[in-house]
Amino acid sequence: MSTSLKAIEAFHDDLREWRRDLHAHPEIGFEEERTANFIADRLEEFGIETTRGLAGTGIVGTLRNGSSQRAIGLRADIDALPMDEDNTFAHRSQNPGRMHACGHDGHTTMLLGAARYLAEHRDFDGTVHFIFQPAEEGLGGGKRMIEDGLFEQFPVDGVYGMHNWPGLATGRFGICAGAIMASCDFFDLTITGKGGHAAMPHLGVDPFVAVGQLLSQLQSLPARRFNASRSPAVVSVTQVHGGSAYNVIPDTVKISGTVRALDEETRRAIEPMFQDMAAGIGRATGTTIGVDYRYINAATFNHAAETENAARGAAQLVGENRVDRDLGPSMGAEDFAYMLEATPGAYIWLGNGENSAALHNTSYDFDDSISPLGAAYWVELTRSLLSVTG
Ligand SMILES: [Zn+2]
Ligand SMILES: [Zn+2]
Repeated sequence: MSTSLKAIEAFHDDLREWRRDLHAHPEIGFEEERTANFIADRLEEFGIETTRGLAGTGIVGTLRNGSSQRAIGLRADIDALPMDEDNTFAHRSQNPGRMHACGHDGHTTMLLGAARYLAEHRDFDGTVHFIFQPAEEGLGGGKRMIEDGLFEQFPVDGVYGMHNWPGLATGRFGICAGAIMASCDFFDLTITGKGGHAAMPHLGVDPFVAVGQLLSQLQSLPARRFNASRSPAVVSVTQVHGGSAYNVIPDTVKISGTVRALDEETRRAIEPMFQDMAAGIGRATGTTIGVDYRYINAATFNHAAETENAARGAAQLVGENRVDRDLGPSMGAEDFAYMLEATPGAYIWLGNGENSAALHNTSYDFDDSISPLGAAYWVELTRSLLSVTG
């Protein structure tokens, strides 16, 4: 066992207590007041310089040691989701309609654990910025931190992120160079026809005829317009809203969903295809189809050298055979993408167990047994990037 892991295991009880406290008090994006206070209090206890207020509830802890000018950023997300929790254990959510269903309580805890170890041992040469990012869940907290001057105020040579991963065994890490998570953009299509009596559709223009065609034709975009092996993309319609009675054809119907891709070229090529399809189906059905297409999140792109750094840091801890360097990308999205657009870096997955409930599931819980390992990963990464020997 690495010396850092051994030292962190010694305060495993504290990690568990912090994590369960955070789990019991979940707050959603940009509302993480209690969470931010919790983090700042811990950092100040460890004697770490603490800057509040980036992106509102974001926090950066800064720890300097030695004389090296090298600097790294370690990032954890801190927000919860707007959903109810089904778990019944003692540390279940005490805030109705709020749940740490993505394990950001664990991410916060692991980064705090690393901060505590590094503040106590100071076995590195350079500067570590502990970045606690709010509003990861689709609200653009990472982007706002950057707009608020994150990397001007806290310049780094590289920035690193970590997410727990259900389905991957505990004690294992997974990573890949290039896109590790997909872009995620939103669309709303408003189909306007002319409503009327369901018995006399010929007197109006039925918007549902266009909806039916859109639902099938949108699927042909990823399936038939891109090279399936090189440009994976997913279009999912997740909402259809329209109508109010059995015998009334409505004027308008709205459909909404997400588009995901692993590369920027594919991502940007899809919107014009949406526009063409909407115009064509509109003409064919006599409806008007308005397209509101919003770019939300770029793909999370792991830089090559930093991916190697991250994989090496993990391998030092658990051995090469427990680091899967070819796990392949997920079509999920992550707003760490903004940080990786601004500066080189890498994002790694830490196994939350093969039997873990899925992320965003009402029964999900972060596995406290992996907290020391995640914290020790941050420490090993720091020690290898900011080694005292140069
Ligand atoms: Zn999530
Ligand atoms: Zn998450």
